[in-house]
Amino acid sequence: MGTENPGRPGFPARPASSPFAAAPQTATPFSSTGAVAGSDPPPFRPTAMPPPPQAPSPFSSSGPPVRPGVPGFRPAPTGTFNDPSLPPPQPPIANAPPAAGTFQRFPPPPFSSSAQAPLQQRAPFVGQPSIQQSASQPPSFPEPPQPQTPFVQMGPPPQSTSPAPMGSNVPTPTYQPSFPGYARMQQPPPVHSSFPPNQGNYGPPPAAASSPFLPHQGGYAPSPAMAAPLGMQPPGSGPPIGGIQGLTEDFNSLTVQTRPGTMDPLFDAKELPRPLDGDVEPKNLDDMYPMNCHPRYLRLTTSAVPSSQSLASRWHLPLGAVVCPLAEPPEGEELSVVSFAPASVVRCRRCRTYVNPYMTFTEAGRKFRCNVCTLLNDVPSEYYAQLDATGKRVDLDQRPELTKGTVEFVAPAEYMVRPPMPPVYFFLIDVSISAVRSGMIQIVAETIKSCLDELPGFPRTQIGFATFDSTIHFYNMKSSLTQPQMLVVSDLDDVFVPLPDDLLVNLSESRSVVESFLDNLPSMFQDNVNVESAFGPALKAVFMVMSQLGGKLLIFQNTLPSLGVGRLKLRGDDSRVYGTDKEHVLRLPEDPFYKQMAAEFSKFQISTNVYAFSDKYTDIASLGTLAKYTAGQVYYYPAFQSAIHGEKLRHELRRDLTRETAWEAVMRIRCAKGVRFTTYHGNFMLRSTDLLALPAVDCDKAFAMQLSLEETLLTTQTMYFQVALLYTASCGERRIRVHTMAVPVVTDLGEMYRLADTGAVVSLFSRLAIEKTLSQKLEDARSTVQLRIVKALKEYRNLYAVQHRLANRMIYPESLKFLMLYGLALCRSMALRGGFGDVPLDERCAAGHTMMVLPIKRLLKLLYPSLIRLDEYLLKVDLKSIERRLPLTMESLDSRGLYIYDDGFRFILWFGKGASPEIAKNLLGEDFAAELSKAALSEHDNEMSRGLVRVLEKFRNSDRAYYQLCYLVRQGEQPREGFLLLTNLVEDQMGGNNGYSDWMLQISRQVQQ
Ligand SMILES: [Zn+2]
Repeated sequence: MGTENPGRPGFPARPASSPFAAAPQTATPFSSTGAVAGSDPPPFRPTAMPPPPQAPSPFSSSGPPVRPGVPGFRPAPTGTFNDPSLPPPQPPIANAPPAAGTFQRFPPPPFSSSAQAPLQQRAPFVGQPSIQQSASQPPSFPEPPQPQTPFVQMGPPPQSTSPAPMGSNVPTPTYQPSFPGYARMQQPPPVHSSFPPNQGNYGPPPAAASSPFLPHQGGYAPSPAMAAPLGMQPPGSGPPIGGIQGLTEDFNSLTVQTRPGTMDPLFDAKELPRPLDGDVEPKNLDDMYPMNCHPRYLRLTTSAVPSSQSLASRWHLPLGAVVCPLAEPPEGEELSVVSFAPASVVRCRRCRTYVNPYMTFTEAGRKFRCNVCTLLNDVPSEYYAQLDATGKRVDLDQRPELTKGTVEFVAPAEYMVRPPMPPVYFFLIDVSISAVRSGMIQIVAETIKSCLDELPGFPRTQIGFATFDSTIHFYNMKSSLTQPQMLVVSDLDDVFVPLPDDLLVNLSESRSVVESFLDNLPSMFQDNVNVESAFGPALKAVFMVMSQLGGKLLIFQNTLPSLGVGRLKLRGDDSRVYGTDKEHVLRLPEDPFYKQMAAEFSKFQISTNVYAFSDKYTDIASLGTLAKYTAGQVYYYPAFQSAIHGEKLRHELRRDLTRETAWEAVMRIRCAKGVRFTTYHGNFMLRSTDLLALPAVDCDKAFAMQLSLEETLLTTQTMYFQVALLYTASCGERRIRVHTMAVPVVTDLGEMYRLADTGAVVSLFSRLAIEKTLSQKLEDARSTVQLRIVKALKEYRNLYAVQHRLANRMIYPESLKFLMLYGLALCRSMALRGGFGDVPLDERCAAGHTMMVLPIKRLLKLLYPSLIRLDEYLLKVDLKSIERRLPLTMESLDSRGLYIYDDGFRFILWFGKGASPEIAKNLLGEDFAAELSKAALSEHDNEMSRGLVRVLEKFRNSDRAYYQLCYLVRQGEQPREGFLLLTNLVEDQMGGNNGYSDWMLQISRQVQQ
């Protein structure tokens, strides 16, 4: 292990005579009074915790990854950064270069004792300007040295000028890198030498009759395509995609019928299409472009780029892409890691596209033609290989970058402006009375401790902690100590950081001090009666500690910030503003402080995850901003109680801490001339017109972007997209993950529809709609969704209706058959549904934040969750029943059955009134007759109970990003049944919400108007 940063510069302003420099170990003994407060195990522990995800990962948390032993791939030498022979992309920062192999910190943010511009005085953030690079800015890892391809600005300006929040993600960074507080270091901080003064006759169940839907399983499959009229081929029988011309239209239709005895129109509910198989990744380009990256990394809303602006204008759905750059590789596939060291990565010298399978080699292997800009480049001598008789390189089978759509390059020194940072985890924990009472602190401490061995990046990983109530508490974790020392900062107006060098420590060196701290944390504050929260000042103080390296900041927040900068009001929800033009303000951050802090965090490579637990209004709208601009994430556990929600927090925090993470990353998506990405949607900060700054990013984050045509007419037949994520792996290597995709350019609107991808459309739609709720009423956001669907179907109808006499039919493309239902589900989602009183404001905002980062598959499951009958499986009447997802309507629920509803975030277990009491007794034990809101699910000693536990575990293991707690509800138990389940049966009409059939009729009418 040894020291990682022997040459680490001392904290600049610390006086040598600082009383803290040599704090004797015994000065502030960490009182280990008593055992850790007992942890009451939550009543429901389904089974042992599933093992942490350890799927073969391309990453390795301990040392450089194993690369395929391909001749020609030399392992990247570690510690080659700062190789003088390679010119760095920008001048290294002045006090930088340490010895090779070490990392260096960012220079501390410069400060001046006289001109400390308080954050509040900075220019307000508006619009979306890009962050400008400046000499005083810390290293920012732009994609490496490259001749800048000039940007042709056409059409509506991108992020930089539009003040509209739709698509606006980035606050104006006014980077004056001064930060108040540093100058105060000379004053001896008050160090507290001790912790704050306390500071019945159950027969066999009746053979359960199937729910009315079961006998018609087939009927719920999307209705078969209508018989193809003369001259048209039925869907699926078209020629393979290779023959783009002469393709048939895969369309589908529904007949509008008449309600018996009336003139009212209706659709036969059984014929309506339902996505009972969940998300289906598009495969339609597999034959045409087999070397494309896997759709889990990159999906387009239609895999056909329109050849002209006029064609694009007839495509009324979003045109764009959804990218999940670090998605876990498909089962059985390993990511290829390629090193060109000591040479540089092969790229086109004009447009900087990375070498990929679509580049072609000519002139006996001496030149290659760029697939994106067609420039003929020289092949670097180290990369030369002869061509065979068919013009292919003879070493093709040893060159994954020439055969695979996804590869990872080891980045040489020129891709670094400082040596790669180590993984850094800093925890900021609320210890006010409400936090203590919720039991959150104990779960957090236990979980962090249990994850210490699995934090990525051993032995370089760094860790630090701070807690806060009305004051801020730091902990000296120097490895030479046996116990941590607590240092209290109580001056909230001029925050300073005591002992800055020992607050963030190397985990393996200070392991015992860290463990001691975590063991004691819960009891340290168990008698704390402080009701205040100095959250804002604490955030500023933590920034000072973290800004030299960057890293991940995990915030555990319980009490609404009440003291110092960033304090928030109990603005709560106000019924009077709903429906007015002020409604959206509730969903916006109240205090610009949070946006400004987020901008600072992003600039210094700090990513922020917010865990919020309050049982009162906690202003997620403001707090979530910290995650939004720093590629972070919001976890919200309203009214957290450890006995009930403990398992969920444990699992989700564990996932957050142990999933492989890409550090100090930037991402760019390139495309060939004529097309341009114009808006970006998700959690990030835009650093220039098209560079997304992601201080930390992982496999659970997706990003979406919209595309527009720059030229009136595209003349090429193929369009290429390339996503490049430049990042520092936890092992310390700089890497570039590259995904390349080719798609056809088409001249026919029908073709665009045929190659449409509902999942990508819905993902982009959701993000646009949620952003719209930040500038407009919920109702407006919903009607926009509906309107765009109507426009799209209208345009589609115009293509075919007249010639095929389809009056009285609703027609839609086969590829988009679920779009209408997902559109309805989106309008009824937590983020968009209803108005005042329908969803608590914080929950609405948290749902919006969550949906903005979800990968497609998870989003679709949230919108249209699975509903599965369980009793037949548990009674072994029908073992297949567990694989059948049912339509989300009351009609699916048989009162003799037991059902599970799973949206990926929680389970709801519904007990029908007529279900066999045996089932309830077996599953709930003594609680079987109790009110289910008070009953807890635990394993009982019988086969049925064990069977249920296995089922829940199986569902949980299918996607571990979130942990599903299980809520129980009995049929007719109101209002619980209503808010837990009935509201979420999106096909049913409920309150003011449309049911599926009504929604389809509305759309059908509007389409035919
Ligand atoms: Zn090029």
